Formats: sequence, structure tokens, C-alpha cells
Amino acid sequence: MKELAPLPTDRAALVARLAEPRAYDVAIVGGGATGLGVALDAAARGFSVVLVESHDFAKGTSSRATKLVHGGVRYLAQGNIGLVREALRERTTLLHNAPYLAQPLAFVMPSYKWWEMPFYGIGLTLYDALAGKAGLGRTEFLSRAKTLALLPGAQPQGLKGGVKYWDGQFNDARLALALGRTAAARGALLVNYCRAVDLFYQDGKVAGLLCQDTLSGQSYRLQSRCVVNAAGVWVDELRQKDGAANGGDGRRPTQPMVAPSQGVHMVVDRDFLGGDTALMVPKTADGRVLFAVPWLGKVILGTTDTPRHDLAREPLAFKEEVDFILTEAARYLRRAPTRADVRSIWVGLRPLVKPPDDEGDNTKGLSREHTVLVSRSGLVTVTGGKWTTYRAMAEDVLAQCAAKSLIETRAAGGTVDLKLVGAEAALDEVHSISQPPGLHSYGREQALVASLPGAQTLLCDGLSEAMVRFAARYEYAVHVEDVLARRSRLLFLDARLASSLAVQVGAILLQETGLDPQIVAFTALAQHYLCLPA
Ligand SMILES: Cc1cc2nc3c(=O)[nH]c(=O)nc-3n(C[C@H](O)[C@H](O)[C@H](O)COP(=O)(O)OP(=O)(O)OC[C@H]3O[C@@H](n4cnc5c(N)ncnc54)[C@H](O)[C@@H]3O)c2cc1C
Repeated sequence: MKELAPLPTDRAALVARLAEPRAYDVAIVGGGATGLGVALDAAARGFSVVLVESHDFAKGTSSRATKLVHGGVRYLAQGNIGLVREALRERTTLLHNAPYLAQPLAFVMPSYKWWEMPFYGIGLTLYDALAGKAGLGRTEFLSRAKTLALLPGAQPQGLKGGVKYWDGQFNDARLALALGRTAAARGALLVNYCRAVDLFYQDGKVAGLLCQDTLSGQSYRLQSRCVVNAAGVWVDELRQKDGAANGGDGRRPTQPMVAPSQGVHMVVDRDFLGGDTALMVPKTADGRVLFAVPWLGKVILGTTDTPRHDLAREPLAFKEEVDFILTEAARYLRRAPTRADVRSIWVGLRPLVKPPDDEGDNTKGLSREHTVLVSRSGLVTVTGGKWTTYRAMAEDVLAQCAAKSLIETRAAGGTVDLKLVGAEAALDEVHSISQPPGLHSYGREQALVASLPGAQTLLCDGLSEAMVRFAARYEYAVHVEDVLARRSRLLFLDARLASSLAVQVGAILLQETGLDPQIVAFTALAQHYLCLPA
């Protein structure tokens, strides 16, 4: 395998670049799927780019997805054909550009009523037709025996058969890192633990942002022709500052555009589902969609959709959400998972967009599932959408920036065939993301990881000392949480095991970075991921 030379992510060097007196073309607030997607697209077009993330890359919603790269069967039911088509196109692009991080996955919808198979089967066949050449496999009607062969853990009682269709799955936080590192390889400066605290203006127009390194307290002023607010559910904070500073008469406060809704996932052992096929329930007792997805050696059960009014960094599940998932899982699985079987529980906040009715200080840009707003002062805010369509969203954002003459127009589409780090050339062997993690999770970089000290020292299955060193040297990891939650996904897979490794991981990180790895904070966080509301 060809030797690769990844960019080092030494924090002192990155932060020193923040202090350089220069003007960027694009400054981005937020290092989730949306912000990182914009960073990569802009860098690929040759713009100078800086991105600041207040916590860690993908610490927000972007590490808490159901892990589906999907066209959205749900949108089809709503008749939103254009959106499904776009997502199906983006699905293909993603699977093509990061095959070790995003792969096709077969889903089976088990049917317990005779009418379900033809009813849902027709919809899924239409889904295939919409995918056209981007299709991953044909929708098939399954006998009862074939359904159980693919879903050995499904409830056999009353089972009539099933419908099998294809979508994709991915490793969300590692994909986020791959996007960021690919952008960095094209010159973008990305800094985590650096919070955008305010904007500054010239002649009433946004001229850059003020940010603070949350580890040192040091502040920086970043001049930029264009500031993109991609702070997920937190976008309103900066919008409101912008409105207050630049609203003109100050009579009307900027209305929030995000109405958050939370989604809970619970992780159980693989044998609850068996096999490599995901289970999809199109309509639960209360009309929602439920998935059981094989992922990194475990099974993810979820999700929910519960409005909430706060914007907690680590939202907690409500008891009703846990009861709902376990009750529904019990209806569809042979062996009903109980609270004691849950290895980890995690909650993500959806940035649902409610565009202001008539906001004079904003010009409403493109509005599909995501929304781009450009304020009177030129602050570009983007939120909503889904992981699968991050690339198309990035193109929309840059189109809006150019339309407002914040940057010049440069041809779009450069990211369609742009392979992400670790996928520069074909892999000899691609491992399924359904299988437990390991060296294969690094794509083309696995030889490099294996060459680092501690490659033979396993902290647990799938996590070596060398992987922790790699995370610190090349993947921006500073804290134990960065490694155990987002470089390795152990916190999401088995929070108790993750907690037991905190001290060891912390010691390696300290050696590598000289910074406080925040072991105690991680141990407390891991309790959160184990705690089911009674
Ligand atoms: C439960 C659930 C399941 C989902 N499942 C799927 C799925 O299976 N497939 C799919 O395609 N999509 C899925 N989605 C949608 C997808 O996860 C989101 O659309 C996407 O992650 C949003 O990314 P984002 O970058 O906009 O937000 P975030 O990931 O939240 O990123 C915003 C970032 O901004 C940072 N930030 C905030 N304020 C500041 C500041 N002042 N300075 C600097 N940084 C700041 C935050 O720390 C955060 O990291 C799901 C969403 C949820 C909630």
C-alpha cells in the first residue's frame, strides 16, 4: 500500500496560524457536517478558508445520526420527489468518495399484515425507479423464510414475509473528520475548541469574526469577505448578535429560525438482530419510522422526534422515548431488549427550520429541507437538511455567497469526484461498517496507523495505542472524549467499556499533546450515556 503523508494537527501550530494577520475569503462557524462540507467545497474551489468549532468536530448533531446515507423513503411518502432525487444522487457521490466510511446497506421491512407488502413494496419500487442509475440494488419481495434468513432476530410470530430495499450507512463522526482533513489538505485552517463569540463590521457589512480559544482563553480576530454561520441548532446565537448590532432601528429582535427536536438512539448487542441487514418499521404504533441498524458490531435502535426548547450540549432522553423504542423493538424482535441490555444511549438535536414569516432584515435564500439566509449585513446562515446532502448544501451556500457578491463565482461540482482522505485510491479490501471497528476503519491510512508506536498494544478490541496517537497527531484530538466518542466510536457503542479506558487513553494523549486530556470530565460524560431515565 502506498505511503501517505497526512497533515499534522499540532494544536499550537494551528492556533499560531489564527494569529497571522491575513484576510480569508470564507470564515465558517461550526465544524459539523454542514460547516465542514462548506469548508471542503470552498477550499476545493481555491478559496482561502478558516473554520472554528467551539467544541470538537462533530460534537453536535453530526455524531448522533442514525447513520443512514439515504434518499429518504419518508419524503417519498410526502410526495417530495425532488428532495428524494437529490438525496439519492448525493448518496451515490458519498459512497463513491469515501467507500470505507459510507457503504450500501440492505434493509428489510418485515410484514405482519398481508397488505403491507404490496403497499410498501410499490413505494419502495418507486424509490428504486427514482434512483435510476444511482440505484444500489433492486427492491425484492421476500418470503417468510427469506425474511428470517436475513433478519434472524426478527419476531417470527405472525410474520408473513418482507420487502428488501437498499440504502446506505456511514460512520458520521469519522466522515466529518475526513471532510475536515480533506479541506485542510487543500489549505483550509480548521481549529476545534475555538468559539466564535462575535462578528465585526465595516460600513455595516460583516467583515469577519472574533473567536476565542476555549483552552487558553486567547482571543483572535479573523478578517473574512464572507462569514458562514453553520452552527447547527445553535445558529440563532450569532444571528441574534448580528441582528442586534446591525438591525438598523433595533425595533424588532431577530426571530429564531431553529425549532429543535430531539432524537434518541439506544445501542444493544448484535445478536438482538443477527445478520448484516437493517430492520425498518415504516409505521410504528404512533405512526413513526423505527430502525434497527447493524453498526460497528452492535445494533442501533431509534429514533424519536420530540420537540424541546433548550439547546443542551448533551440532551437527556425522556422516559417516554426510551419506553417507546423498547416497546416497539419488542414487537419486532424475537428477543425483546430491556433497559439492562442498553450499552449506550445518545441524543441528537435536529435543527428544524422555521423561516421567519416576514423578516425585513433577511433575504431568504434557497429553501428545500435546509435553509440559507443572508442577513442585511451579509451574515450567511445555513441550517437544516441532513447529513446525506451536506455536499449539495455546501454548493447552495457558496452560490448564495456569490449571488450576494461576497465572493466571486467559481465553478461548482469539484467535490463530486473528490475522494476524501483515506480513499484516494481503491482499497485492496473493504470491510463492512456493520462489522466491529479496527484498522480497516482508516481506509488507505491503515498502514500509517500500524506504523505508529503501540500498534500491537490493544486497549480493547478495535482500539490500539497507535490509534490514539494517530488521533492526536493527525485527527485534531485533544481530550479523551475526542478519541473515545468520535475517532473511535466506543462511547456510542459501549459507554461502560469506554469509561474504563479513560485513564489509559488520557495518559497517551498527554504524552502526545502535553494538554490536559480531561479524564474526569469524560468519566462523568460516560455516565450520561449509560443513564436511562426511570
Ligand atoms: C436523531 C437524528 C438522526 C439523524 N439521522 C440522520 C441520518 O441517518 N442520515 C442523515 O443524512 N441525516 C441524519 N440526521 C441529520 C443530520 O445529523 C444533521 O442534519 C447534521 O448532522 C447537521 O449538521 P450541522 O453541521 O448543521 O450541525 P452540527 O453537527 O450540530 O454542527 C454545528 C456545530 O457548530 C458548533 N458551534 C455552535 N456554536 C458555535 C460557535 N459560537 N462557535 C463555533 N462553533 C459553534 C457546534 O459545536 C457544532 O459542532 C439526523 C439528525 C438527528 C437529530
